[in-house]
Amino acid sequence: QSAVITIDGPGGAGKGTIAREMARELGWHLLDSGAIYRLLALASLRENIDPGNVVRLAERAEALDIGFIVEGENAGAALLEGERVDAAIRDESCGERASVLAADPTIREALKARQRAFRQPPGLVADGRDMGTVIFPDAPVKIFLTASAGERARRRHKQLMEQGVTANLDDLLQELQARDARDSQRQTAPLKPADDAFTIDTTEQSIDAVIQTVMERVKA
Ligand code: C5P
Repeated sequence: QSAVITIDGPGGAGKGTIAREMARELGWHLLDSGAIYRLLALASLRENIDPGNVVRLAERAEALDIGFIVEGENAGAALLEGERVDAAIRDESCGERASVLAADPTIREALKARQRAFRQPPGLVADGRDMGTVIFPDAPVKIFLTASAGERARRRHKQLMEQGVTANLDDLLQELQARDARDSQRQTAPLKPADDAFTIDTTEQSIDAVIQTVMERVKA
C-alpha cells in the first residue's frame, strides 16, 4: 500500500488549497472527494434523478464516468463523461445536492472503491470529510482542519467575489451552518476528526503557515 495523507474538515477550512499544494510539493496524487459527490450530484440534476431514489443513485454512482485533469494549467479540473464541468460542480445547487446525497449510506458505500482507487504510488493526499475515519483509516498522517464559521463564510465570499459572483455574506454563513449541521449530524460517516488526527485551527493562520505545520508532521 502506498502512502496517504488525509485532510478532513468542514467546508471553507482551507482543505482544498492545502491538499493541492501538498500534493504538488510531494509530487503525489490528489483526491478531492467532495468533487466526486458533486459530480454525482451534477449527473443526478442533469438526468432528473429523484434525490430520494437511492437505488438508482447508487447504480449511477457505480457507473459514473468521471475523471480529473492531472497535469498542466487545468490540473484538478473535473470531468463528467469527458466534459469539463469544474464551474458547474462548484455551483451552489450542486453543493446542496451533494450534501443531501452524501447523507445516504448506500450512496457513500457505492463511492468507496472509487475513492480508494486513487491510492497509487508514490502517494496520495486525500481531501474530504471522512478520509481519515472511513476511506483511509490506516493513513499514517491525518489532519483535521477547522476555522470559525464566520471566517469560513468570509473566505467563501472572497472566493466568489474573485470569480465575479455576487453573494451575501449572511446568506453564505447560513448555508454553511446548515451544511455543517447536516455533515456532522448524519448517521453514516459524520464529520468528526479521526481519533489519531492532528487538528489545526486555521482561523488566524495563513495558508503558508498551515502548509508548513503539516509538512513538518509528514516529514517527522
Ligand atoms: O467539500 P465539498 O464542499 O466539495 O463537498 C461537497 C459535499 O459533499 C459536502 O457538503 C459533504 O456533504 C459531501 N462530502 C462528504 N464526504 C466527503 C466529501 C464531501 O460527505 N468525503
